[in-house]
Amino acid sequence: MTDFSQALQGKIDIITENWIEAVRSDEQIETAKQLTYTSVRDSLPIVLQAIVTMLSQSEESDIGTLVEESLEHGTVRAKQGYDAEEIAREYRLLRRVIFDALEPELLKGSAAEVSRAYRLIDAALDEVIADCFKTYTQARFQELQELHNQLQLTNQELTRLFRASQENLSHLAHELKTPLTSIIGYSELFLRQINNPRVKDSAPNLAHIDKVLSNGRRLLRLINDTLEISRYDAGRIKLQLSATNVRSAIGTVVEIIEPLAKEKNLEIVVECTPVLDQVMTDYLRLQQIITNLTSNAIRYTQAGTITIKTELLSDEQWSLCITDTGIGIASEDCDRIFQPYFRADSSLGSGIPDTTGLGLAIVVRLVNLLQGKIELVSEVGVGSSFTVIFPLELDGV
Ligand code: ADP
Repeated sequence: MTDFSQALQGKIDIITENWIEAVRSDEQIETAKQLTYTSVRDSLPIVLQAIVTMLSQSEESDIGTLVEESLEHGTVRAKQGYDAEEIAREYRLLRRVIFDALEPELLKGSAAEVSRAYRLIDAALDEVIADCFKTYTQARFQELQELHNQLQLTNQELTRLFRASQENLSHLAHELKTPLTSIIGYSELFLRQINNPRVKDSAPNLAHIDKVLSNGRRLLRLINDTLEISRYDAGRIKLQLSATNVRSAIGTVVEIIEPLAKEKNLEIVVECTPVLDQVMTDYLRLQQIITNLTSNAIRYTQAGTITIKTELLSDEQWSLCITDTGIGIASEDCDRIFQPYFRADSSLGSGIPDTTGLGLAIVVRLVNLLQGKIELVSEVGVGSSFTVIFPLELDGV
């Protein structure tokens, strides 16, 4: 009686070799071409060994090993990036390679022996394929689930961004409407009166031109600030770092905006001890932060003092603090004032002109760009204190 299990046992190595070669040279199994010999082989010798046991005359089944290895093989193939068609092809090739290798022995066996061998090998291969696809499908499903979750998160984020930009756009349209309506109204009035010889060149006429001019400037400021914000949001700003003397950056700003403080009898006090003269930062961006915070402090303060103070906090951080004795900000508005176009009711109520609601939104973006963080402490009727904490050295710039 022919023992096909013995024949298969002796041919495990050659079947493995032939199969790997067949898989690698198959045009339709692209994935195998990028894998190493061991990765393509995976657990095949163990699977063949289990088929040997099944074929042996004792028919002692090693189905447990077969199932275990095939389940594992499915997970491995999913990780390696095989598609289902490639796996099916791989098994078709295995069947062909096994029967080619056993052909000399099969030709010598009786019809009953050959039929038994075919039946057992086919049954083993069917089991192997079914188990392999089971874990392969599970792994792919899990991957799909993860992708789905990821896509859902991305979708939520995109929707949020879309809504935010829609809101910003409608805010901007609203902001642009007031000065535009005013410009159009006063221009019409001016044109009507210029044709009237009695009022030509009169003082009210000049006042109308003034209004047109101031609203035009406001429009331009709004547009420039909005464009600046969108440049930051698009990540189009490149930092120009240099060792900076913070005291001198503050000095230049104070020189420019001191007249505004003097008009309101406000005192500006600068405290910079120790002098920070080697801070790695972008000089112009830092000046812009100081300008925006200090001009707000002046704008929202009727009497008292504006203090600009710097401190060395540690070997790694320094701070810039701008404090005023102004109208203060209600606690429910403290987070919202950093959003574009937001103005606190208290300041609107006080009828302050020339605000855009964009100054702090720009400050937040500049502070982020300089890897700092901004904190606000404020009390209505007492004053506000904006503190920016910066690193002494910037990471990865
Ligand atoms: P703007 O001053 O042009 O309105 P900002 O973005 O600079 O725009 O400020 C947003 C709002 O935050 C202001 O309208 C004001 O209500 C409030 N705010 C900012 N700074 C101060 C401050 N120092 N004191 C009181 N309120 C302030």
